[in-house]
Amino acid sequence: MTKLIMWLVLVFLVIFAIRSKIRDAQKRYQQQFRQPPQPQPQPQPQQAPPTYKARAAAQAANDAEVMLQCAHCGIFYPASETVQANGRDYCSAAHAALPSA
Ligand SMILES: [Zn+2]
Repeated sequence: MTKLIMWLVLVFLVIFAIRSKIRDAQKRYQQQFRQPPQPQPQPQPQQAPPTYKARAAAQAANDAEVMLQCAHCGIFYPASETVQANGRDYCSAAHAALPSA
């Protein structure tokens, strides 16, 4: 019975530690993105700071590169690596040189 209580206490402490860590991270995040007070006479409704998910999605959208499909083999590749020939996009010079199907 003592062992069971010990385990329960241990589990409770771990859960508490994780929750406090998450709360700290949220606080730090909110402080980081808090906007400085603006010298305006009329108080305006403040926009809520973006959620972590929204920021992560925006970051991913900024980092993502446009993908193109090769006119020969059909694979998708980064637009920066495109080889154009006859007005079509190819994944490599080799596929651009091949006769189109
Ligand atoms: Zn190809």
